[in-house]
Amino acid sequence: MSTVIPLAFAVPGVALALIYCYHNIRPRHAHRADPEMLLESKVPVPAFKARRLNGSTFLITEWDDIWNEHPYIYAKVVPSANTILILDTGCGGTTMNSSIGIRSLRKYLETVPIKENRSRALNEGATMKYVVTQTHCHYDHILGAEAFAVDSPILASSNCPEFVSPENLPAHSQCEALSIRTPRYPLTLVPHLHDIVSGDQRNPLGSPLGVKVLHTPGHTPDELVLWDEDEGMLFVGDTLYEHDPIIFPNEGSIVEWFSTMSDLTAFAELHSTKRPAQISCGHATAGGNAVEVLRATRNFMRDIIEEKEEMKRRFLKRGFWHVEYRQRGGRFSLICPERLVLEARKALMEGKLVN
Ligand SMILES: [Zn+2]
Repeated sequence: MSTVIPLAFAVPGVALALIYCYHNIRPRHAHRADPEMLLESKVPVPAFKARRLNGSTFLITEWDDIWNEHPYIYAKVVPSANTILILDTGCGGTTMNSSIGIRSLRKYLETVPIKENRSRALNEGATMKYVVTQTHCHYDHILGAEAFAVDSPILASSNCPEFVSPENLPAHSQCEALSIRTPRYPLTLVPHLHDIVSGDQRNPLGSPLGVKVLHTPGHTPDELVLWDEDEGMLFVGDTLYEHDPIIFPNEGSIVEWFSTMSDLTAFAELHSTKRPAQISCGHATAGGNAVEVLRATRNFMRDIIEEKEEMKRRFLKRGFWHVEYRQRGGRFSLICPERLVLEARKALMEGKLVN
């Protein structure tokens, strides 16, 4: 399978562009529009579909983006703060599907009825405020951010400010490599263990949203996790997924990832005493036992570092050797620069790998 797939497509401001699709190395599952949704809808077909994940939160999927990413976006409705917390903003509705008429995530939230929300839009009439958090700065998680940035804060990890600086965002978001215009918006960088609030001039201290930020570098230096205490849910972005390749960019670190996974597993164990904590990801996985998923993912990655997993493929991408591993049965797989695996093996040999 080729790792570089040219696509011709139309985007606003660019009549026709030739794109080399980085992430099409991952065989994402095909997502189809829910026929029921299309039949029920009295508005143009949206680029998104939503289902209730738990009492407060909806999972929104961008179901036919041109990069085949199908990112998972989460919307937690907090009536006490008159706010919707949005986790990631997806691919900006960029699609080749001519039947899709609503491409703005914000417009979707404010106008499209959701069956599991009593057939009302999640933010009908735009009466609620937004707080947006990005799990990390990759393009498939930030391309819808500008529409919210006009009046709402966009939170990101303060772990590595230069990684998300305006100068570095084109490269680190992968927008540059994909010939996508890099979105421009101000970030509010928040520390590890930050409790997210929703405030304004009348309420400068803000109202709590019941969600905590954890810095979780590994996939990227700015990767973060949200912990929703009331719902017992960890949102882990691109730290891992099941049944879809875990991908590291050149800027990732498997050594840091193991340290993060150790912390996350301990955190999930600590918060699983009353009921099992759950885990939801930036793609593919939403729900599931957090401790079990975290342990199983670490075991798979440890097998790779200890050379117990067979390498399935070694290939050049953008001038760097990449490797692919697939667990028997297909639950977990990994695609990353070979250097990251070799660094982790060296750290293991030196007793420096937290695993
Ligand atoms: Zn990513």
